[in-house]
Amino acid sequence: MGKVLSANLGYPRIGEKREWKRALEAFWAGKSSKETFLETIKTLRLSYLKKQKDLGVDLIPIGDFSLYDHVLDTAVLFGLIPDRFQTDEKEIALETYFSIARGNQDAEASEMTKWFDTNYHYIVPEISNDTKPHLTKNRLLDLFNEAKNELGIVGKPVIVGPITLLKLAKGYDSDHFDTLLDALLPLYVQVLAELQEAGAEWVQIDEPILVKAQSEEDLAAFSKAYAYIKKNVPELKLLLQTYFEALDHYQEVTALPVDGFGFDFVAGKAGNLAAIKTYGFPKDKVLAAGVVDGRNIWKTDLSATFTELQTLLSAVKDHKNLWVTPSSSLLHVPVTVSNETELDPVLKHALAFADEKLGEIVVLAKGLNESEAAIYGAVEQNRADLNALQQSVHRNNAAVQAELDQLSKELPTRPASFDLRQQVQADAFQLPPLPTTTIGSFPQTKEVRQARRNWRKGEWSDSQYDQFIKEETKKWIDIQEEIGLDVLVHGEFERNDMVEYFGEKLDGFAFTRFGWVQSYGSRCVKPPLIFGDVSWKEPMTVKESAYAQSLTNKPVKGMLTGPVTIYNWSFVRNDISQASVFNQIALALKKEVHALEEANIRMIQVDEPALREGLPLKEEKKAGYLHDAVYSFRLATTFVKNDTQIHTHMCYSEFDEIIDTIDALDTDVISIEAARSHGEIIATFEDFHYKKGIGLGVYDIHSPRIPSVAEMKSYAERALNVLDPKVVWINPDCGLKTRRTEETVPALKNMVEAAQQVRAEL
Ligand code: GLN
Ligand code: ZN
Repeated sequence: MGKVLSANLGYPRIGEKREWKRALEAFWAGKSSKETFLETIKTLRLSYLKKQKDLGVDLIPIGDFSLYDHVLDTAVLFGLIPDRFQTDEKEIALETYFSIARGNQDAEASEMTKWFDTNYHYIVPEISNDTKPHLTKNRLLDLFNEAKNELGIVGKPVIVGPITLLKLAKGYDSDHFDTLLDALLPLYVQVLAELQEAGAEWVQIDEPILVKAQSEEDLAAFSKAYAYIKKNVPELKLLLQTYFEALDHYQEVTALPVDGFGFDFVAGKAGNLAAIKTYGFPKDKVLAAGVVDGRNIWKTDLSATFTELQTLLSAVKDHKNLWVTPSSSLLHVPVTVSNETELDPVLKHALAFADEKLGEIVVLAKGLNESEAAIYGAVEQNRADLNALQQSVHRNNAAVQAELDQLSKELPTRPASFDLRQQVQADAFQLPPLPTTTIGSFPQTKEVRQARRNWRKGEWSDSQYDQFIKEETKKWIDIQEEIGLDVLVHGEFERNDMVEYFGEKLDGFAFTRFGWVQSYGSRCVKPPLIFGDVSWKEPMTVKESAYAQSLTNKPVKGMLTGPVTIYNWSFVRNDISQASVFNQIALALKKEVHALEEANIRMIQVDEPALREGLPLKEEKKAGYLHDAVYSFRLATTFVKNDTQIHTHMCYSEFDEIIDTIDALDTDVISIEAARSHGEIIATFEDFHYKKGIGLGVYDIHSPRIPSVAEMKSYAERALNVLDPKVVWINPDCGLKTRRTEETVPALKNMVEAAQQVRAEL
């Protein structure tokens, strides 16, 4: 009858202590030779494989490891190199590879963008209508042989599938899709044939695009592609892998001529289970069941999952037709909990990062192969660990839960309409037309970061640090006055990060030491854990805002991070709904907004730069998410007085899908990133007839360039062509924390000058 196999889909690259990042950055900085670099990387890569083997994983992925990004690896494998990086190299040199990802003196890097709804960014393949795909070096073959020869591992090579690759690429016209696919397919076949020749039994082909709606033609392309591949490498077993959601076209997909299908039973649980129940599962194929969450950091409920797997087992022909896998690559979670020595043990024992998740997969497979009794100890321990967190005081804050229970279904609403508020606020603030302001942060200089380090290490006392922050704030209030800005900010010098700062001051959050995940290239982020009920303890920002306000007669904006952004940039508990967590955070922020109002801070900005990125992949889930986002934002902000002005800020430029949401937030003013894509954004707001206060960024803060007065003036004028001058504000695209003072001051002077010139022409 064979046995149920444990299989991994992808392992984190970065290393337990970010060794991978350090190796890359040393190489880029010229601090290590290519030989040393490649040697270090090889050692790391083999250690990851060995770890998976030692954990008992049956099918270990090969080729998921990357020096930058696996989509770029796939593009390079097939010679999809942007023209500006073309060389005669048959084998693409490491330098060329990194140049595509990072740019060089002569050529701009390829664009990068978010991998589905994750925080991982891939390099967008650039293909033109004339691109001729060709095989470069078969890196998968090299990696397969390496694992086999060095560790005796017969791995499962992983490759991004042809349709997903083409769909994520840009630069060609859609009517060239078929030609490009026809050119790619023989190359896929060649890669696969070489792998088979070398001894590969299974290959995992990732087609995550299948969780998004596909047209008839798309589905036809899938049929054609997989029929072609199967026909040409009939012996090799192909596992078509999907993740991040349920399939949109279950029947068509399961009819494809491959040997197995990998489905996500976490994010896509309801949809995928329902499809299997309705249509059954092809009897002779493998079902790779993604039951262990590849996107979050909690232990799997082993008992419930075991039961679920037994149901899935009954849907397939035989034990050998079922694999237990994570729901996606483990790229999206940190490496191991074992180095976290400072966490509350109750929390720590409820966590599972990549290594621990693989352990769970192995246990679950063992239970199915032997008996439930064989894994009894592990299941009981797991139950006890999860219960302990569930029963802990952190998840049983009666006050928070009572507040949540009392929330009404009705959207919280400001007592007065925008029109009325606009008049009241115009009287209260007496701002000139086209008021100028900034987004919040000013340069986080070496000194600022050093001061924070000194204080954290205990080398500086609290009062020493406070004094430093005050001086910095005062310096920048003076600078802002001198520049002539109309609405000032305190500068955010006390903040390391806009989520962590609040997380450290609220109950319900925890921070790991090594819980890093790759965001793009060597850049990693360490998201806070929202593990308990979130609650407000004491004012978090009042001291800094009130101090700044005491130094000037101009209004100073209070500065908070919104509930949805805090949620989206954290690892979040999954025992209560997303809306409940949004609202817990919002209730805490509401108290902060109230405290700011009491301290006579009359403008309060609640940043939501990550609102859009949490948008679900499935159309039918979008409205619910957006409703809950709006509800929580309004919960935190709408109770204020008419003459308290609520601002928000967002930094991206795709508003099409969320313009009604923006309007529904009912803020008095929104500032958005716009300098790089002005035309499109204006059109969106114009078509919508947006009537509330709006600042379209006139200064691209991502570049060290100092924009001229004329340039910023032209942006402002374009906005005025379609928007009522009464609602337009002038501001940069985003916070200035990454800029240097020498860039910031002259750029803002130009911005104020531009505003004055446009005002004079009104
Ligand atoms: N207020 C924040 C800042 O200026 C906003 C940052 C952001 O939008 N990402 O830094
Ligand atoms: Zn921003």
